[in-house]
Amino acid sequence: MTQSTPKARARGPQTRIVHAEDRLTPGFEGFQVPVTRASTVVFPNLAAMRALVWSDDSQWRYGLHATPTSLTLAQRLAAIEGGRHALLQPSGLSSISNVYFGLVKAGDHVLIPDNAYSPNRDHADWMAADYGIEVTYYDPMGGADIEKLVRPNTKLIWLEAPGSVTMEVQDVPAITAVARARGIVTAIDNTYSAGLAFKPFEHGVDISVQALTKYQSGGGDVLMGATITVDHDLHKKLKRARMRLGIGVSPDDCSLILRSLPTMKLRYEAHDRAALALAHWLKTRPEVAAVLHPAIADCPGHAFFERDFKGGAGGLFSVVLDRRYSASQVDAFIEALELFAIGWSWGGSHSLALPYDVRSMRTASSWPHEGVLVRFYVGLEEEADLRADIEQAFAKAFA
Ligand SMILES: *Cc1c(COP(=O)(O)O)cnc(C)c1O
Repeated sequence: MTQSTPKARARGPQTRIVHAEDRLTPGFEGFQVPVTRASTVVFPNLAAMRALVWSDDSQWRYGLHATPTSLTLAQRLAAIEGGRHALLQPSGLSSISNVYFGLVKAGDHVLIPDNAYSPNRDHADWMAADYGIEVTYYDPMGGADIEKLVRPNTKLIWLEAPGSVTMEVQDVPAITAVARARGIVTAIDNTYSAGLAFKPFEHGVDISVQALTKYQSGGGDVLMGATITVDHDLHKKLKRARMRLGIGVSPDDCSLILRSLPTMKLRYEAHDRAALALAHWLKTRPEVAAVLHPAIADCPGHAFFERDFKGGAGGLFSVVLDRRYSASQVDAFIEALELFAIGWSWGGSHSLALPYDVRSMRTASSWPHEGVLVRFYVGLEEEADLRADIEQAFAKAFA
């Protein structure tokens, strides 16, 4: 394999370690993308280094910005969603943050759906308090009424369809039509659909944000996020902010996600089948006041889901329990579950359940339900076992 030249053999042992000439056997082609770890990217000469254009994705620049491993992942993610560019960030939340820092400045106005991922709200409140950005929350089900909230300085409209706790599905095309007519950028948190079931760029959205931590990882062991775009100028704005913030991702983490991507659609479909079956069963249960699953008619925006989603809903849905059960009884129900763990995040093989007090999470829209909301994430266990588990926990907590 290694052919050391006579000249190399004449160098000292330490130099030979640093300049090891081991190469993989030429012609070795695996299916997996090699893990390329590097900070320095070596240029052949100074002229090549000086000719570097920092915004040119076709040139390797610095390990923080891209390596062959991370670029391969970015390209595959963009392809899944029908985008042309993708940037990777070390968490879904940092992808959200990258959108803010790339697109808005003091004096700009941002619109956020009232059911948005809570840390996005917290981020927006921070921008409003410390960075002079105006933030308005809007009713996620308001559709084209968003026009009434648009101001001359509105620069960014966030969308999330469905919201990952309350599952309301927004009328995305109605909102993006308003934004397009005014040159306002739209960004959707599309984590719920993994970019499989909902294709934001076909519905007028400019930026798709993915928490790769969820289905793309699938293992519950990697944190990462992505911003995906079609428009080159938007990509450049996000990339410049990402560079200035010093954001990069580990090629090892990228390789874990690259390993999981080929099974993502199959996993999504398996989660979807089990979750939908459980949701239909829960609808027949006297303990349950409403089932909030986008594919079931109870769910606000069900018609938009039917119109715009192709390929299922995955493993996430919520129920509202009957209001006769107190918050502490619902806590007891969740703690009585044996197969559903208590914890944040989702997208892996293990089922999860959490209670939410939705009214305390909203400021711009009312919430009709009195009972406690429980969000289930259905993992890859047998659906019959999960059903039996919920049944025994109902009996134990609500007897
Ligand atoms: C988990 C999640 C995020 C954030 O992802 P992290 O990698 O945990 O930061 C963003 N949006 C939604 C809808 C999520 O579920």
